[in-house]
Amino acid sequence: MTKFEELGLNQDILKGIKDLGYEEPFPIQEAVIPVLLTGRDVVGQAHTGSGKTAAFALAMLQEIQPKNGIQGLIMAPTRELAMQITEEIKKFGKYTKIRVVTVYGGQGMGIQLDALDRGVEIVVATPGRLIDHLKRGSIELRDITHIVLDEADTMLDMGFIDDIQFILDLAPEDRVMSLYSATMPTEILRLSEEYLNNPKQFLLDADDLSGDGIDQSYLVIKDRDKFKYLVDFIKPIKGQVIVFCSTKYRTRDVARFLHQEKFNAVAIEGDMSQHRREQTMGKFRTGKADILVATDVASRGIDVPRVELVINYDIPNQELLYFHRIGRTARAGAKGKAITFVSYSSVGDWNLIKRQIKVPLEDLNEKMGIQISIPDPLKRQIPSRRYGGQSRSNYSRGGRSRGYGRSDRDSRDDRGGGRRRFNDRGDKNSYGGRSKW
Ligand code: ADP
Ligand code: MG
Repeated sequence: MTKFEELGLNQDILKGIKDLGYEEPFPIQEAVIPVLLTGRDVVGQAHTGSGKTAAFALAMLQEIQPKNGIQGLIMAPTRELAMQITEEIKKFGKYTKIRVVTVYGGQGMGIQLDALDRGVEIVVATPGRLIDHLKRGSIELRDITHIVLDEADTMLDMGFIDDIQFILDLAPEDRVMSLYSATMPTEILRLSEEYLNNPKQFLLDADDLSGDGIDQSYLVIKDRDKFKYLVDFIKPIKGQVIVFCSTKYRTRDVARFLHQEKFNAVAIEGDMSQHRREQTMGKFRTGKADILVATDVASRGIDVPRVELVINYDIPNQELLYFHRIGRTARAGAKGKAITFVSYSSVGDWNLIKRQIKVPLEDLNEKMGIQISIPDPLKRQIPSRRYGGQSRSNYSRGGRSRGYGRSDRDSRDDRGGGRRRFNDRGDKNSYGGRSKW
């Protein structure tokens, strides 16, 4: 087993790692850090919880000089994720003199400009706000030596592809770059071909989509019965719970119900101010709240270590989101549980997700003896409206029906990138892309 000491990191960084209590590098760290330190580009496909942040952050800290201008640039899809990466870098870099700033929409420019004025070596940014800074000259990329694209597939889904290309075109060509993505749709492969130089590719978990290590089950019930079952399922749980809902209205309703039942729940959705979202995530992350009710804004990349149960109160509107949601549990090798509520009208969509689940999936109707009585008209409706397969090349469908284009979609930064959909294929395509690896 390789130790952190053997990866080529300096004493200051090793001290920071030690403070965090990391004993050994995770496989992705062991694989990626030495490669980045030789100056080679990297493409990494790995599921959430595999430790990607430390993989790129430690290598970056090792290579960057204090007081030498902005040398490191990390792009991430959401402000939450960007802030989380910054926090981790601060911890890893506690004993270095390297300074880092988060640049994201939703926060006033002033704070960011002040931090930039004082000087930073690493910028963690959502693409939209970064472009604002580039245009006003408050960030320049000429000293950049290290670039990271984290959760590249999410950025693509959110319509950031043009922004990313715009940014990368401004960066010096002589740099070390790495790209991380849970899936590898062709657009990501194309991006990496265009912007990375003979990258070393790591496919770190072939069973990314299995939800390995997570006990998964589902229950088909009437929509109006969901709350009753929710309460039944979360009552015996001692650890933290995340409840995913399809819209902000549902999120609010469920949170309100939980409060009425005296649960210690918080909610996060896109209409909340940035400040409140941060507060809420903070409460949950530090364990001051037991239950987080969330739209998919919280499903990607956000690391909350102790989640024991994920409940899909509504099924996600995209197959991949299912795996991202349940990936919030069983982090860092721990065991977790995921229960999906399927309303009668979602059975067809659920079947599409179910097909992608490659581990045993428990049928709770069977186990608990709960009858399903789907009315006939709904049964006929089941061959889903969304998966007719006709609209592959329709770029301008408005995105009402799936993915990040929904009007209640909220995991995007301030430029409304989510509305500009790059393409309409998304997840389907990404499974295809996997075979290239
Ligand atoms: P990813 O970005 O791949 O989803 P993260 O970088 O967020 O994963 O890491 C997941 C969790 O694992 C975090 O809580 C992180 O602190 C923890 N972690 C990362 N590397 C190590 C390590 N070497 N030892 C112990 N815990 C680690
Ligand atoms: Mg991550």
